[in-house]
Amino acid sequence: MSQKRPFITLNQAQDILADVPTPFHLYDEKGIRENARRVNQAFAWNKGFKEYFAVKATPNPYLLSILREEGCGVDCSSYTELQLSEACGFAGSEIMFSSNDTPAEDMKKAYDLGAFINLDDLTHVDFLAKVAGVPKTVFCRYNPGGTFDLGNGIMDNPGDAKYGMTENQMAEAYTRLMAMGAEEFGIHAFLASNTVTDDYYPELAGILFELAVRLHKRTGAKIKYINLSGGVGIAYRPEQRENDILAIGEGVRKKFEEILVPEGMGDIAIFTEMGRFMLAPYGCLVTTAIHEKHIYKEYIGVDACAANLMRPAMYGSYHHITVLGKEDAPCDHKYDVTGGLCENNDKFAIDRMLPQIDKGDILVIHDTGAHGFSMGYNYNGKLRSAEVLLKEDGSHQLIRRAETPADYFATLDCTPYYKKLKL
Ligand SMILES: *Cc1c(COP(=O)(O)O)cnc(C)c1O
Repeated sequence: MSQKRPFITLNQAQDILADVPTPFHLYDEKGIRENARRVNQAFAWNKGFKEYFAVKATPNPYLLSILREEGCGVDCSSYTELQLSEACGFAGSEIMFSSNDTPAEDMKKAYDLGAFINLDDLTHVDFLAKVAGVPKTVFCRYNPGGTFDLGNGIMDNPGDAKYGMTENQMAEAYTRLMAMGAEEFGIHAFLASNTVTDDYYPELAGILFELAVRLHKRTGAKIKYINLSGGVGIAYRPEQRENDILAIGEGVRKKFEEILVPEGMGDIAIFTEMGRFMLAPYGCLVTTAIHEKHIYKEYIGVDACAANLMRPAMYGSYHHITVLGKEDAPCDHKYDVTGGLCENNDKFAIDRMLPQIDKGDILVIHDTGAHGFSMGYNYNGKLRSAEVLLKEDGSHQLIRRAETPADYFATLDCTPYYKKLKL
C-alpha cells in the first residue's frame, strides 16, 4: 500500500519546518500547473473551453493566481469568494457565479463584476431583475430529477438534491429572460460528486447536449455555453484507478459531434467547474506525531485535527498517510491516527496499517489540496493552520499564516471581555 508517494521528502519537509511549524497544508505548484495544462489539452478541441476553478475548494489567492496564469477562471458562490476573485484580477467572463439560496448583495456583486450568472431557480429570474439587472448572458442550472445512473449503477440522486430547475422551468426561464433582454444562454448541471470513472462527464454532456437541442427548438433561445460543473473525482485510495482527463475530454468530444454538430450547434463552448480534480492531489496536510497511546487500541496523536481537515470525520473519507523517512518501511503496525478534538470522530485513520510511528515523526496526509483547509472550522477553539506553497524551483513560500488566538477572539471586540483577554 505504499505506492502513493508524497510530493515532498523528509529533507524538504524539514527545510519548511525550520520556517513554519506543523500543522500546515502544503501545495505543489509544479503538479498544479501540469494538471491544469492536461485539462486544457483534453478540451483543446472545443474553441471556447474554459475551466472555472471552484473557489470553495481552496480559496487561496496564490493558488487562484497560478490557475489564472494557466488560463482558468473561477467559480464563485458567495460574496467573499467574489471579492477574493476580484482581488486576484478575475473579471467579467472569467467568473462563473453558481450560487443557490442567493443573498441579494451577492447577486448584485456578481452582476457588477460582469460575471456569468447561473440561476438556480425559476424564481431567481425576477430576483435577478429586481436586485441587479438582466445581463446579456444568463445561465440556468438543470436538475433532471430521479437518479443519475452510469453503466455500473446509481451514481447520485438528483431528485433529492436542492439544486437546479426542471426542464419546463428552464424553458420558461429562457423565454422570460429573452423578454427581459437576455440574448445568450448557458446550461449548467452538477449531478454526481467525486466520480472515479471516465464516463461521468461524457454521460452528463450527452444529457445536457440533448437538453440544449430541445430547449433551443422549444424557445428559440441561443444557447452558447454548456457548463459540466464539478464532480470529477480523484483516487484517494492507493488501489483506486485515476481518472484519465484526456479520455474524459475525448468522450465529451464524441457526444458533441454526435448531438450538437448535426443540429448546427457546434459553436457551443464547454465550461467545467472542477475543484477536487484541479487541486486535491497537489496538496497535503503536514503534521507531527506528538503523542502515542496504548489502551484497547494503538493510537497516534498528531498536532492537526479535524478542524484542519474535516473530510474523514464528516464523511468517513479515506486519506492516505505517509510517514516521512519511512516510505519504504513495512506497514506492520495498526494505528488509529487522531487529532485532539473532544469528538471521537476526530480520526484521520482508523485501523490503518502503517510503519512504526515514533513521537516527532512527520506525517503527510495526502490529497488535501481541495476541500481540505477550506472546510476548516474553530470547534474546541482550535485554530486554522498555515498554508505553504512548494514552488517549481523547490523553494517554499508562506501563502497564509496560521491563525492566532487574537484571530479567534477578534469578533468579541464588541464586548467588554475583549480587553481582558491576554492577547
Ligand atoms: C463544489 C462545486 C464545484 C466543484 O466540485 P468538485 O467536486 O470539487 O469538482 C463546482 N461547481 C459547483 C456549483 C459546486 O458547488
